[in-house]
Amino acid sequence: MAKFVFVTGGVVSSIGKGIVAASLGRLLKSRDYSVSILKLDPYINVDPGTMSPFQHGEVFVTEDGAETDLDLGHYERFTDTSMSRLNSVTTGSIYQAVINKERRGDYMGGTVQVIPHITNEIKERIRRVAKNTNPDVVITEIGGTVGDIESLPFLEAIRQFRKDVGRQNVLYMHVTLVPWIASAGEMKTKPTQHSVKELRSIGIQPDILVCRSDRPIPATLKHKLSEFCDVPEQCVIASIDAKSIYEVPLLLEQEGLAQQAIELLQLEQRQPDLSNWQTLVDRLYSPKNSIEIAIVGKYIQLSDAYLSMVEALRHAAIELSLDLNLKWVNSEDIEVEGGEKYLKNVDGVVVPGGFGSRGVDGKIAAVEYARNHQIPFLGLCLGMQCSVMEWARNVAGLKDANSAEFDPNTPNPVINLLPEQHDVVDLGGTMRLGLYPCRLAPNTLAKRLYEKEVVYERHRHRYEFNNAYRNLFLENGYAISGTSPDGRLVEIVELPSHPFFIATQFHPEFQSRPSTPHPLFKGLIQAAFNKAKSGESATSTTSQRIAISPGINISEQVIVADADRDPILNATTEVKY
Ligand code: GLN
Repeated sequence: MAKFVFVTGGVVSSIGKGIVAASLGRLLKSRDYSVSILKLDPYINVDPGTMSPFQHGEVFVTEDGAETDLDLGHYERFTDTSMSRLNSVTTGSIYQAVINKERRGDYMGGTVQVIPHITNEIKERIRRVAKNTNPDVVITEIGGTVGDIESLPFLEAIRQFRKDVGRQNVLYMHVTLVPWIASAGEMKTKPTQHSVKELRSIGIQPDILVCRSDRPIPATLKHKLSEFCDVPEQCVIASIDAKSIYEVPLLLEQEGLAQQAIELLQLEQRQPDLSNWQTLVDRLYSPKNSIEIAIVGKYIQLSDAYLSMVEALRHAAIELSLDLNLKWVNSEDIEVEGGEKYLKNVDGVVVPGGFGSRGVDGKIAAVEYARNHQIPFLGLCLGMQCSVMEWARNVAGLKDANSAEFDPNTPNPVINLLPEQHDVVDLGGTMRLGLYPCRLAPNTLAKRLYEKEVVYERHRHRYEFNNAYRNLFLENGYAISGTSPDGRLVEIVELPSHPFFIATQFHPEFQSRPSTPHPLFKGLIQAAFNKAKSGESATSTTSQRIAISPGINISEQVIVADADRDPILNATTEVKY
């Protein structure tokens, strides 16, 4: 039977519950305990897929195609375990399920109420994660802050949960803030006291307090928190701001977080093996060289909008012992002032995913600049579509080429709606989502980087490369280096004459993990470093270029996937086109 940890947050939002939950996951995993982490989000949206990145930050996509909170990305990266749609629950999804049951008549004439129907549905979702993946420990993070009206049903459900599964199987962990008040020259415990009081009024007494602070918390203060909040002193855990989120598990280990959790859950104490994680942090903190990568997007005021991409760049930089400097470039500024001003001295350019026409011309200009100035380039989803539009307009002479997303009547829709999207009316959960196989063509940069025949990557888009332009594209010196196994959908394009120019219809950033940086990001960072080393010009990387005939015709090279011969394809992925 699984053990359950519930993580609540107090005092302020953005306190870092996700990182604390993910860090505890890492510490348990390093003791050989299997872990699954789920997030309960109190908003009414069924999932964050329809929310603006300005509202919500990145939408993280799971292998099975759920659009989820970005904390799921942290869970995956810290525990090195893939989560599923079961790990993401919102108030909207709970109400939707309950209302559907009511319409079916499942409640047999009863009045449907928050307690017990909504709370039962919440508890069922938590149990479902335990049942489906059978982990030793299920960690549940409750979004929002204790005291919010919206999170009350979740708190009531987790209160009941302990009664349902037994005291020794449940642990409540409360993450709070212990602020430094400059005018008093002191750290203050009162906000934490109030937050715990609030939690207790709902019937939950925290077992562990994780206290976020910007400096060490003195023993006297821990003692005070212990007294006022009725939490044993050894369970008052300090969580001091770290330079990198990847240091947090190590700091929490020193504070004894996992040891206390294991004791309270009556699990066996085991020696953790954090050596790899320690090496990672050591490398992160002692880089040998540095590089600068420009990210050209339109949500740059909020770097959370591109969280997984930034982490993927970081993972690759850590592995290559490089200090990663990010230059956030608003694509609309490039539209006004041109690429030269912003991209002249950078070592690499990434154009990430996005929706809507605002800023697209700036992204296309960034692709053009990177292409013409031999700057290593990685395009992701919309970034790939921009590189195709750039080619069409500036290389193939189709001045009016566009994506049907931005101009449905364009005479040259080089990016077009996916066939299965034609009749889609609802916006929520209807894109091409989740893991799909991609067959790599021989003698391409993609093949060299991945070193595999078939790769599986996560998608989130409605539009695709228009096959009517394939030959024209290939005739102009480009290569299509990855397609769906039947060769129909273009998944990766590249420019063989360039030191490093590759763009993908999928989002490789979702699969990068600190311990296993993604090959495409590693390739970009290595190429950027080569460029940085060679000073002005990246042509010193010529020796690494792939010899490839520009007229390569992918459909002849791609072997149609044979599900019988391909166990992964057969087992985990339903291939839909
Ligand atoms: N807007 C584009 C599409 O829907 C790209 C999506 C993305 O970048 N995730 O196809």
